[in-house]
Amino acid sequence: MTYLDNTLKERLTEFYTRSRKLTILTGAGLSTDSGIPTFRDKDGFWTVGSVNYMPEEMGTLKMFTQKPLEVWRWFLYRFNICLKALPNTGHFAIKELEDIFSDRFRLITQNVDGLHFKAHSSRERTFLIHGTLERSRCGSECSSELYPYPQIPLEKDQQLTAAQIELLKCPKCGNYLRPHVLWFDERYNEKYFKLDSSMRVAKETGLLLIVGTSGATTLPQRIVESVLSRQGIIIDINPNENYFSELALKKKNGYWLKGKSSEVLPEILQFFKSL
Ligand SMILES: [Zn+2]
Repeated sequence: MTYLDNTLKERLTEFYTRSRKLTILTGAGLSTDSGIPTFRDKDGFWTVGSVNYMPEEMGTLKMFTQKPLEVWRWFLYRFNICLKALPNTGHFAIKELEDIFSDRFRLITQNVDGLHFKAHSSRERTFLIHGTLERSRCGSECSSELYPYPQIPLEKDQQLTAAQIELLKCPKCGNYLRPHVLWFDERYNEKYFKLDSSMRVAKETGLLLIVGTSGATTLPQRIVESVLSRQGIIIDINPNENYFSELALKKKNGYWLKGKSSEVLPEILQFFKSL
């Protein structure tokens, strides 16, 4: 299947010969081919007693404050899935694009699954705007130090042992640690989530590839708007219609490549390799 038509190839060639940056913005859709569910549908349900909670309720500071161990069980279960998952051709194509563009390349990801690093994307050029399941930090914010993620691979219905619960406590103050991720009821910031750095990258971006994200959160939307306002090209790569595909179709500089990222990204990579 060919996703790139001649008009788009001309635009990409023109971009390539100029000095602006290639930025790739990735979301959960990129990792579905690696077997990681998006956690926004039925896979994200979590049952406590007789109550079913939605991901939007589990992944919140509010829930953590009320039921820290339930939130931890849910996150440890997700971590267990990520631990076993392997990067797919989409992740590897992104890594190769970084090799081609080097300092003209930035990766901004909403994914907390660590798969970009398993595919050897560099940490210096990658902005984890929703945090990472590789790290935890004090849930009481007694310091901003990041700790390793507790190595407790939990199955869905497994309970925590007393010894495992001890591993979930802050070494400094003894309160519970928390996953180092942005929760649904929290705001982006520079300190943990590279808000300002990401917006600076957007200003320098000549070509933005939007991969597998539905556009439900504000920072990705602001990045896309910033690129468009400076005559950058945006390409939405997604098999499903979404906020960004609709926006792309309305803009002169916007394109929607309707397909799986594990198929479209290798084709874009091959094109840049051929230049
Ligand atoms: Zn602490």
